[in-house]
Amino acid sequence: MAMSADAQKTFYLEVFGCQMNVHDSEKVIGTLLAQGYRQVSTVEEAGLILYNTCSIRDKAEQKVFHRLADYKKLQAQGKRFGVLGCVAQQEGEKIFERAPHVSLVCGSASYRNLPQMLIQIEAGKQRVTGLDDRETDECFETEFTARTNPHRGYITIIEGCDKFCAYCVVPYTRGKERSRTSESVLAEARQMTDLGYTEIQLLGQNVNSYKDPEGNPGSSKSSKKTFAELLAAVGEVPGIRRVRFTTSHPRDFGRDIVDAIDAVPTLCDHVHLPVQTGSTRVLDAMQRLYTRDQYLERIAWMKAAKREISITTDVIVGFPGETEADFAETLGLLEEVGYDAVFAFKYSPRPNTPSLSMEDAIPDEEKARRLEVLMAKQREIQSASYKRYIGTHCEVMVEGRNEARAQWIGRTTHNKTLNFTVPEGANPKAGSYVPVIVTGSFPNSLLGELVV
Ligand code: SAM
Ligand code: SF4
Repeated sequence: MAMSADAQKTFYLEVFGCQMNVHDSEKVIGTLLAQGYRQVSTVEEAGLILYNTCSIRDKAEQKVFHRLADYKKLQAQGKRFGVLGCVAQQEGEKIFERAPHVSLVCGSASYRNLPQMLIQIEAGKQRVTGLDDRETDECFETEFTARTNPHRGYITIIEGCDKFCAYCVVPYTRGKERSRTSESVLAEARQMTDLGYTEIQLLGQNVNSYKDPEGNPGSSKSSKKTFAELLAAVGEVPGIRRVRFTTSHPRDFGRDIVDAIDAVPTLCDHVHLPVQTGSTRVLDAMQRLYTRDQYLERIAWMKAAKREISITTDVIVGFPGETEADFAETLGLLEEVGYDAVFAFKYSPRPNTPSLSMEDAIPDEEKARRLEVLMAKQREIQSASYKRYIGTHCEVMVEGRNEARAQWIGRTTHNKTLNFTVPEGANPKAGSYVPVIVTGSFPNSLLGELVV
């Protein structure tokens, strides 16, 4: 059965992976809406089905191929399929062979060209690609961002990555590092506050490798900003209550970032600083560009800050050649730093990356064991350390209500979830900021009562 032209101008988009993908999707959705498409919430209603994919680990990558297999039969109804993001860039035209019902394959560096690609799809072209822009100096800037959260908004300040860690696909899938001008970032921040946003999160694979470009329209030498200066300037935009940034790379993490947090109260007291391993030997094999001691020096700067900065990290266990002694160094580092959260992953060998051909692979059961040990240790650390908040007052941004538990859900400036009760009759609004006293703690969240 052929679909009507109108129904074909509907799309369904599912996103996998990191915050960058979520925000890229907001921009892709905005672009489609501006092209006259309507977003629908099921595959069945859609003329165009898009997957914004992640290939950071093998499991993430497999998800999209499962989805494509599940819905292949819908092609007979005239529906078109598109694969966007990291798997699209990594696999390129091979996707057409593996899933012949796909007609669009487009990496994130090519999203700027989506309007032209959509026109080709609408004209009935069977295979449309956007794969040749990884060397571009341009960012995907658009006035059409379909933001999904009315209070917290994301701004990408830097795209791509030039670091080439031995295990990571990002430099191959997202292309070379390129920053937006600080003028453009600040203009977007001001537009957002005009629309009522009070929290802004600056995004980039390595947000603190930010380099304000010269010579772009609207940029002058005198107004060029470092990352810390940009952070402070966003924090000073009238109407802003909270500024977050993720992810920071330890090599480019300067003391000026801590100074900015000290000086500008709207900058949240939370830093996500992925360490990956506590062993300098493994850091070297991973090509991370810092030693354990240099990483700990940055932690010391944060610990000396005027406000207590909550520190979180990412860890990879079972990198090729990781010995028991290396792993013990990672466990020791968790103790020493006292992270408020650790995102830990089993090493996953990825296409094109140097570590794919490294010797001494760690068997999967051993990786699973190390992951289990590491997470148990971190649970212990958090169970003990979250108690430090009991009895303190925190300001939270209200995110919603958990009806089943008769609790409100809030988020602290440290980026912790704080579930709280309110006196009868009180009804805090989503997006408002309210004071809460902490009365209890769990390994991953806090409990409290609204202060009236
Ligand atoms: N740019 C950030 C940095 O340098 O820390 C991280 C970006 S990456 C999207 C997020 C996390 O995924 C990394 O910090 C790392 O812990 C994890 N990761 C990346 N490649 C991986 C791989 N091949 N296997 C397992 N985990 C991986
Ligand atoms: Fe991947 Fe390393 Fe770049 Fe982070 S810094 S995105 S881990 S290559």
